[in-house]
Amino acid sequence: MLVVMQSSATPDEVRAICEKIEALGFQSHSVEGTQRYAIAVTGDLRGIDTCGIDEMPGVGEIIRISKPYKLVSRESKPENTVVRFPNSEVTIGGEEFAIIAGPCSVESRAQTLTIAEKVAAAGAKLFRGGAYKPRTSPYAFQGMGVDGLKILAEVRDQFGMLIVTEAVDAEAMTAIEDYADMVQIGARNMQNFSLLKRAGRSPLPILLKRGLSATLEELLMAAEYIMSEGNRNVVLCERGVRTFADHSRNTLDLCVIPAVQKLSHLPILSDPSHATGKRDRVIPMALASAAAGANGLLVEVHHDPEHALSDGAQSLFPNQFVAMLSQLGGVLPVVHRTLNTDPPKARKAAAQVVRS
Ligand code: PEP
Ligand code: MN
Repeated sequence: MLVVMQSSATPDEVRAICEKIEALGFQSHSVEGTQRYAIAVTGDLRGIDTCGIDEMPGVGEIIRISKPYKLVSRESKPENTVVRFPNSEVTIGGEEFAIIAGPCSVESRAQTLTIAEKVAAAGAKLFRGGAYKPRTSPYAFQGMGVDGLKILAEVRDQFGMLIVTEAVDAEAMTAIEDYADMVQIGARNMQNFSLLKRAGRSPLPILLKRGLSATLEELLMAAEYIMSEGNRNVVLCERGVRTFADHSRNTLDLCVIPAVQKLSHLPILSDPSHATGKRDRVIPMALASAAAGANGLLVEVHHDPEHALSDGAQSLFPNQFVAMLSQLGGVLPVVHRTLNTDPPKARKAAAQVVRS
C-alpha cells in the first residue's frame, strides 16, 4: 500500500502517519520523488483495509501495489533510481552509462594494479575484483580475503576508481564495508535471504546479480529483501541464465532489461563476461546490451588471461576493452546515454564508512 501525501502535507502529518503504520504492526518507508512524496507500507497486508489512514490530515490518496515486490516496483516509485556515491560524480541509473571493469579475482598486488592502470586509462570509473570467490570446487582459488581488499583500496587511492567487490557471506560483507564502495551479491547467493537482509543494512550500494536460473520475479523479490531492510541503493545485473545452449557458458537474457525497466525503477547492468564465458563474444553482447537499454556493463579484463586464477577465458585483453568502449561510443547516443571515458581523478582519502 502506498500513502501518497498532498503536496501541502507537513512533516508532523507525515510523522503521524508513520507512527500509525508502525503502531498497526507494519513498516513505513519514505518514497521521495520530484513530483510527489509517498509512504510505502509493507508487511502482511492481506485482508487489511486502509485502517483509517486515508482520513488522516495530509493524505492525498491510497494506492494498492498489485505486485508482490513493493519498494522495488515502479508502482511505488515511477522515477528511475539513480545510485550515487559519496564524494564522487559517478552515477548508476542516470543518463551516464556505467562501466565496471577489472579482473575476476584479485590475484596479487602486481596483477591488480597492472589491470587497474589500464582500465582507468581507458576511462573506467568503477573497478571490480573478487577478494572472496564463490567457486564450484572447494579446491579452486578462494580469493585473497582481507589482503585482497587492501589491494583494492590501494587501487582506489592510486587511480580514483570506485571499488566493487563480492561478499559471499555476512562476515565478508563487514570486512568489505571498510574498504569498498559497492558490494556485489553474486548469482549463487541471489536467494541467500540472510545475506540479502544483511545487505539491506549495509551503508553501501548493492550490486545484485541474477541467480543462475532465477525468474524475473525472483530477482525482483531478492531486491525487495534488500530494500525492505532500508537500503535503497540496489543495482540489478543480468549475467546470463542456464539453458540448453552449449555454445556459451550461459544465455544472456537481453529481454530482461526492458522487462525490468517496465516493472521496476532500479537500474540494471549487463555482464556479458559471465553470460558468454568466451572472450570473442563479450564485445558483441556488450554492444547489444547497450542497445537494449542497459544502464551499464560489468566486464572482466585481464592483462594475462592465460594465467588468470579464475575466468581467464572470458576476460578481455586491455586493448579489447579500449575497443569496446570506442564501439559503445557509437551505440549509446542512439539510446540517449552518454559515456565518459576521461580517466578518473586519483583520490588519496579512502571512503569513509559510517555504520549505524
Ligand atoms: C563474478 O562476478 O566474478 C561472479 C562470480 O559472477 P556470478 O556470480 O555472476 O557468477
Ligand atoms: Mn568471474
